[in-house]
Amino acid sequence: MSIIVENLTHIYNPNTPFETTALNDVSFQIDKGDFVGLIGHTGSGKSTLIQHLNGLLKASSGKILVNDFEITKKDVKLREIRQKVGLVFQYPEHQLFEETIYKDVAFGPINLDLSQEEVDRRVREAIQLVGLSFEDVKERSPFELSGGQRRRVAIAGVVAMRPEVLILDEPTAGLDPKGRDEILDQIKALHNRYKMTVLLVSHSMEDIARLVDKIVVMHRGTVALQGRPREVFQHVELLESIGLAIPQITYLMRRLKAMGKPIRDDVLTIEEAKTEIINWLRRK
Ligand code: ADP
Ligand code: MG
Repeated sequence: MSIIVENLTHIYNPNTPFETTALNDVSFQIDKGDFVGLIGHTGSGKSTLIQHLNGLLKASSGKILVNDFEITKKDVKLREIRQKVGLVFQYPEHQLFEETIYKDVAFGPINLDLSQEEVDRRVREAIQLVGLSFEDVKERSPFELSGGQRRRVAIAGVVAMRPEVLILDEPTAGLDPKGRDEILDQIKALHNRYKMTVLLVSHSMEDIARLVDKIVVMHRGTVALQGRPREVFQHVELLESIGLAIPQITYLMRRLKAMGKPIRDDVLTIEEAKTEIINWLRRK
């Protein structure tokens, strides 16, 4: 098992008038190598949850295991967790601060006390893995790049730590459609190539349907639903009642089915819908 979360509760500002229970008895499991989507309305607890997975927030109660390593134990060092779990925050490019891209990506690995040779190797690899040319960008300032490229540099900084688990909090927020697709394709490629466990927070049901093996749905600090995308997206009423939706193409196929057309209504992507509609027309 890769990640096990057991009865996790997090209370902000306990015993004050500002007390907020952001996570309430959350339990779920993610298998090693899974690509998991984390969805939920704003304020449902997604960001609070993922910050526990790399030790930035401490559980009020409950337990978290990452590859059998209990990160919620009192004496665990943040550094040990960070080597296993890489977290890419929302708008991570705001945290770039070095004068060159090389230095920015090298920052994490240098703090792992690796040899200069090893740091070099990792920085070069990470920059290329996010689709940038090492030679072209290494000496440039992050501030010369476009927003989408800066975000890739920030992601490279986490990838260069070679985490076993990569967590991304809305990595495509604010990017144009091309930049969004490119970043998601890079993440998918990382997952495929390194069998990295990936946890992706996203508001796009289309992206979630296309990319992930499993979905965890958060609602008011609890897990409302979890399972494979095809199962989860069958629960239209529940999802809508908690401020979420299903992919647009799935709505369309459900509509056609409701009109009596003999087609599957659990289709999740445009590609699948195309095949399904063509087959139906051929059968007619
Ligand atoms: P999401 O990422 O799904 O939008 P969050 O984890 O940011 O949800 O928030 C969950 C709940 O915790 C919300 O009610 C939010 O207002 C509250 N919260 C988040 N961060 C803090 C904080 N630093 N201090 C107090 N309350 C917080
Ligand atoms: Mg959030």
